[in-house]
Amino acid sequence: MKVSGKKSILINYIYIHIPFCLRKCNYCSFYSEKFTSDLKNRFVSFLIKEINQVKQRFKIKPLTIYFGGGTPSLLDVSDIQKIISQFDLSQVQEITLESNPKNITSVFVQKLSETPINRISLGAQSFIDSELNLLGRLHNSEQISRAFELIRNQGFNNISLDLIYGLPNQKMLDVQFSLERIIELNPEHVSLYCLNLEENVLLYSKKHLIPEDEVIAGFYDLIRRELISSGYEQYEISNFAKKGFESKHNLCYWSDKLYLGFGPSAAGYFVNTRYTNPADLEEYFGAIKTSQIIGNLVSLTNEEHEKEFIFLSLRKTKGINLKEFENKFQKDFLEKYRKTIDKYLDNNFLEIEGEFIKLTPKAYFISNEIFSEFM
Ligand code: SF4
Repeated sequence: MKVSGKKSILINYIYIHIPFCLRKCNYCSFYSEKFTSDLKNRFVSFLIKEINQVKQRFKIKPLTIYFGGGTPSLLDVSDIQKIISQFDLSQVQEITLESNPKNITSVFVQKLSETPINRISLGAQSFIDSELNLLGRLHNSEQISRAFELIRNQGFNNISLDLIYGLPNQKMLDVQFSLERIIELNPEHVSLYCLNLEENVLLYSKKHLIPEDEVIAGFYDLIRRELISSGYEQYEISNFAKKGFESKHNLCYWSDKLYLGFGPSAAGYFVNTRYTNPADLEEYFGAIKTSQIIGNLVSLTNEEHEKEFIFLSLRKTKGINLKEFENKFQKDFLEKYRKTIDKYLDNNFLEIEGEFIKLTPKAYFISNEIFSEFM
């Protein structure tokens, strides 16, 4: 199905999936292909065609652009510049490049600083080399620190680090060790990932060595407390930032904003409709050749939209804005979900503050259970 006549829809948030990695990590189920320069060049030329096809159907004025992957730092800086220049940047506030410490060189960051990229998300994951090995990461802890310093010294003042926890055989002291290194580096933003192994990843064979839920909840609690006492604000269940450095792009996903995804496997959302590009490079190229990109549209019913709004808003520490809910769905949230709300207010998993209803910190780790009761 083709989308036509949507030029009146204004889109402010753009995700671009760069589907290449040097090697597959042992825990990763994101779509990516082995990097070769030829395939990357072919991809970039199709990506630019895709952007221009979609631009004919939507009014696009990005506030944020997010290069995710895969490994966007495998692109040449000239590719990044060429991709960014396809968009009207007159209102842009944040352009993020996910980067692998392995690819960060002084020449790369120096050239990057001459582009409009103003936020780097560095896939640190852990500062213990045996953990990085287990995860199949290509970098070691020293390379993370070196990459971080190169980026910082080049003048980037908005850097995010990722931390994975809940690894096979992991102990509290291991989590604490990586966390302390992160706090020493003093990034503006920290994203947490609780390891979740799908059956198709190499590390799945070690799933039985993952600590019990209560132990992992303890890891989460430690990370949360330490980050907050080091000056970070928690603005989402797994995201922490220094004041003013919340990821504007990621907030769009939790705030019911419209966004477009470019590149294979990228997803988009506009006016009660979702789509996902083919998670296969050749199929993706084919869809662009035949102008069938943004096919497979999935319409959301009002009920589905409402459920998504609830669980995405509850991921934010601010919670659901009750007035916004009423305006969007023409109903009173507290009335409609009275029974579930009462149950969780009684045991202090939910609280109401002014116009917002939100999870309490003790509910964060078991948030999925709570969300399911609203579904
Ligand atoms: S570098 Fe990132 S996207 Fe690539 S395999 Fe590793 S975790 Fe997955």
